[in-house]
Amino acid sequence: MKDATCQHCAHFVDDPAFIEAAIPNMTMLGSAYASARGHAGICQALDRFLDPMPAKSCPSFTPRAIDQ
Ligand code: SF4
Repeated sequence: MKDATCQHCAHFVDDPAFIEAAIPNMTMLGSAYASARGHAGICQALDRFLDPMPAKSCPSFTPRAIDQ
């Protein structure tokens, strides 16, 4: 897929409830439901909280089944 990012990857989770559960201290700074998080999410392959990056920059990119 052209222009694919983490948002098209099976390892990327951007569900606010999941993020708040995975990073409990996040609620000290705000909510994962707030706009300040932007499009950031958790990469379960790299175990990192990150803004989506271009898929072509990541050797671990795995297309989600729904996008294929
Ligand atoms: S960093 Fe790589 S493996 Fe992780 S969600 Fe993004 S594309 Fe997928």
